[in-house]
Amino acid sequence: MNFIVFDLEWNQSASGKRYTNKKLPFEIIEIGAVKLNSDLEEIGRFNELVKPKVYKNINRITGNIVHLNMEELRNARSFDKVLKSFMDFCGEDYLFCTWGNLDLIELQRNIKFHHLQSLSDEPIRFLDVQKIFALQFEGKKSQHTLEYAVDLCNISKDIPFHRAFSDAYYTAKVLTCLKPEYRERYSFDTFHLPKSKKEEVRILFDDYYKYITRGFDTKSKALNDREVQYSGCYLCKRRVSKPIKWFTNNSKHYYCVSCCKKHGYIKGKIRLKKTEDGKIYIVKTMKQISEEQMQEIKEKYEKIKNQAQATS
Ligand SMILES: [Zn+2]
Repeated sequence: MNFIVFDLEWNQSASGKRYTNKKLPFEIIEIGAVKLNSDLEEIGRFNELVKPKVYKNINRITGNIVHLNMEELRNARSFDKVLKSFMDFCGEDYLFCTWGNLDLIELQRNIKFHHLQSLSDEPIRFLDVQKIFALQFEGKKSQHTLEYAVDLCNISKDIPFHRAFSDAYYTAKVLTCLKPEYRERYSFDTFHLPKSKKEEVRILFDDYYKYITRGFDTKSKALNDREVQYSGCYLCKRRVSKPIKWFTNNSKHYYCVSCCKKHGYIKGKIRLKKTEDGKIYIVKTMKQISEEQMQEIKEKYEKIKNQAQATS
């Protein structure tokens, strides 16, 4: 399998929000990519401007960052043609890699706007290099700029940032500095949700389990799904005791703790999410935790329970 590390530049309305096309708030004006083989050796490059159809003036912010002028874009090929070449460049067996999770969403939004064939009709597995960079260097979720990562990895800055190709190039360089096991820390783009129960995403990572549901019409339907509710052991599926049943502090996030005789304490977390067309879906994670972590959640739980009793 190859890695397609890509980056997009996009433009937006130059005349403010009132003139924004809601179906296409960000119009792609450049696609840049580096293709790496399974040993992360570079085997190809892609770099092309895109002629805009919706926003024909460069937004001031875009212009200041990207340093592109309309003259250059007017001579470029249209989105459908550039996309076709880009997909040919990607080939058959590849994994997308991006800095952050926005590029894959905007790519799909542009594809939909132009009524072109979608990349996939289900969630797309990809590597969010920004996320795994933070995991490796900080052991947690945090967002840094690409330049910060390039500096930290001692990568020489031989081309300017903020053009699609250069950012893809640097993202690929950062990826080669990360531990090989992190190349399996997939993210899932949910521009298209799983269409049925069968297609839902269930993935066991080395230290946690992730489940992404199909879309539901209402929050209660989502929360009442049996697999969403399930709080047993994700490792052995054995019966467990449930010291802390599902509870919420803000009704967007729910937590629970189970205890498996073999695997100890297991924390469940549910995040409620909403798609642009109003569907509700759930991202659920389960993870082994320590006694202390269990106590922390228990304190949270009791605080919320006492608050509820005080107000009722
Ligand atoms: Zn177990």
